[in-house]
Amino acid sequence: MKLKDIGEFGFIEKISRGCLIRPDNIVRGIGDDAAAFSSEPEQVTLVTTDLLVERVHFLRTATTGFNLGYKSLAVNLSDIAAMGGTPREAFVSIAIPDDCSIDFLEDLYNGIKELASEFNVNILGGDTTRSKVDLILNIVVTGCVRQEEMLLRNGAQPGDLIFSTGFLGDSRAGLHLIINDIAADSIELKSLLNSHILPRPFLHEGRFLARHSGVHAAIDVSDGLSSDIGHIAKESNVGIRLYSEKIPLSKNLIYFCAEFHFDPVEFALAGGEDYTLLCTLSPDKADDIARKYLDTFDNPLYLIGEITNTGKMELIDSAGRAKPFKPEGWDHFKSE
Ligand SMILES: [Mg+2]
Repeated sequence: MKLKDIGEFGFIEKISRGCLIRPDNIVRGIGDDAAAFSSEPEQVTLVTTDLLVERVHFLRTATTGFNLGYKSLAVNLSDIAAMGGTPREAFVSIAIPDDCSIDFLEDLYNGIKELASEFNVNILGGDTTRSKVDLILNIVVTGCVRQEEMLLRNGAQPGDLIFSTGFLGDSRAGLHLIINDIAADSIELKSLLNSHILPRPFLHEGRFLARHSGVHAAIDVSDGLSSDIGHIAKESNVGIRLYSEKIPLSKNLIYFCAEFHFDPVEFALAGGEDYTLLCTLSPDKADDIARKYLDTFDNPLYLIGEITNTGKMELIDSAGRAKPFKPEGWDHFKSE
């Protein structure tokens, strides 16, 4: 079945079930000219959006609808997490080519809805239109956070310690398997593939960091460690020192790099889409926050470096030598 068989309104009727999971603040959801909802009092509203274009960001033949929908929402939720916020409402707009089946689209919405219900996010509308060739998907997510708790990129201070909430480089390794058509025939490779396909937004972790006063800056890793920590350096006007031996590498990435002859630290530095949070913590509060974090999540905050006043971005290797590094993340305008 294709969109032309049921029409736009038939399609909207089909996918609008299960979109409203937190009706308390909603005046009008899907079904009117505009959605109407009230925002949280005494909180600022966060808005983030992400546009995914077939053949630029994904291959329709290499993904399921579910995975595409799930990841499209996950990347938006990750941006809310990086601000220390709570996600609230989502809007999904989609341009559908004639050869795209309704089954694929329903599956796509199921992926969105699965993650939305897990994190209490309503889907309040969007737009549906035809596309001549490619599938195009845009999601807007709103969130809220108390202004004094909001995490920004520009708050890092010299002396701060830099942490990551999780492993780095796994998603890039997963992408390498997809691009090169390598079968994920072991637990390790399957897990890397999964990191790329179904990233989990660090929303609870972002809220935890936002509640603690010693957390000065945060960002989520979408373009890659070197690139995203570079945003903190630029916005905060500080230098960065990372320790290559401290960068958290999963045993899956180490296995992958041994198998395919890559340097795991390079994968971690340049690989994108890990969607972990990078944060900078005041040195006098870092121990306390890291201990509470471990107690809360049963996962460590990984110390990876420190903020300096030199303005330089440097990586300290295992022999203690400093070498400069550049932001080398995934660049959407540069072909691989
Ligand atoms: Mg971001």
